[in-house]
Amino acid sequence: MTDAPSYLFYQTRNPRPFLDRAEGIYMFDEDGRRYIDGSSGAMVSNIGHSNPRVLAKMKAQMNRATFGYRLHFRTHPSEDLAAKTVAMTPEGLDRVFFVSGGSEAVESAVKLARQYALTQGQGKRHKVISRFPSYHGCTFGALDLTGYDPLREPFAPMMEGMPKVAAPVTYLDRDDLSEEARGLKYAEALRTRILELGPETVLAFVMEPVGGASTGALVAPDSYYGRVREVCDEFGVILIYDEVMTGAGRTGKFLAAEHWGITPDIVALSKGFGAGYAPLGAIVARHELVEPVLDAGGFAHGFTYAGNPLACAAGLAVLEEIEEQDLIGNAARMGEVLMSELRQLMAEYDFIGHVRGKGLLTAFELVSDRATMTPLDPGLNAYDRLVNLAYERGLILYSRRTRGGTAGDHFLLAPPLIITEAQIAEMMAILR
Ligand code: PLP
Repeated sequence: MTDAPSYLFYQTRNPRPFLDRAEGIYMFDEDGRRYIDGSSGAMVSNIGHSNPRVLAKMKAQMNRATFGYRLHFRTHPSEDLAAKTVAMTPEGLDRVFFVSGGSEAVESAVKLARQYALTQGQGKRHKVISRFPSYHGCTFGALDLTGYDPLREPFAPMMEGMPKVAAPVTYLDRDDLSEEARGLKYAEALRTRILELGPETVLAFVMEPVGGASTGALVAPDSYYGRVREVCDEFGVILIYDEVMTGAGRTGKFLAAEHWGITPDIVALSKGFGAGYAPLGAIVARHELVEPVLDAGGFAHGFTYAGNPLACAAGLAVLEEIEEQDLIGNAARMGEVLMSELRQLMAEYDFIGHVRGKGLLTAFELVSDRATMTPLDPGLNAYDRLVNLAYERGLILYSRRTRGGTAGDHFLLAPPLIITEAQIAEMMAILR
């Protein structure tokens, strides 16, 4: 059925087989071939496919009501999911607004920040600093924040650039600084940028705690995180963590922010939060930001399907599953196993220049010379070849070309949080 005509237009015209079904960490095409979901779709299927608890909860909810417009009714799934989300996030993050996906979560986080600033008589604050490289989504607002030129260029000059600062890519820095000093250097670059822009005009800083699609599981030095929080506090800049990819346990904590003891002002969640069962996202914010906005008439945001009971029932079952199966603990444990496998792979293959990650968000990067971190010759088309070869051998790698600011092509390995040691070995055998 691969050659059946298609009227869809996506990024590729590549004919692919039809997906038949998926279960656990595996996906099956219509010819019965089995694939390991090596990047959890796009860091989505955290609890694995066809989870019985999620399916049962969704079916039960479908039999009751699939829609309850929130101006008329409260629904138990959305109230319960909000309560569970607050219980699982660091203290201080205690108000939730549901949305339908990651881009919308990021945009609504910025919108909430802006509306809060207006209630404080800070109308001049409208600039939102993000990083280069970065990925925050594909709607125009989220794209404005995204530091990834190939996505923005087609729309130039329509898209006005939002200010960007460099994301820490410290392993490429050729200097004598310690890791700690490098982290502080990147945070100071943010401070300098705020001063240049005029602190009274800067609304927010948006960052992924661990780079996902743009930088491939890049973790900044520890010193970066605390200093960024201090810099934002110094100038009253709202700190937004985009945890669309890192949230819901992926890195071995519910929020990646917890690794550094940071409480952002607003967090954007999606992907693993609904685990692919429903289009679901959320912003979780401090009540100090939310209450003035409610007092001033309410949050000026609303999408028809946001917070619908079916999506929230799925999200609730996902969080219950994460908690009861200790999937956050498993992500931390299996992340270490995977990282040591990646280090071993790097010892075997000279063209792997760097391996990195946190929990089960990991990546390896291809170079022609490790000492100088020279990228592979683009003519080799290594990226497509590796993705396609893995696919032919039954391993699905996140197939977005994610270079930008790093040395070469990098590949995310981020299997579902339910993965076992034996399944990691199976995945590595395919990669070899
Ligand atoms: N933010 C980050 C960090 C992401 O990785 C993504 C998607 O890859 C998004 C936002 C956008 O999410 P969505 O595709 O659900 O709109």
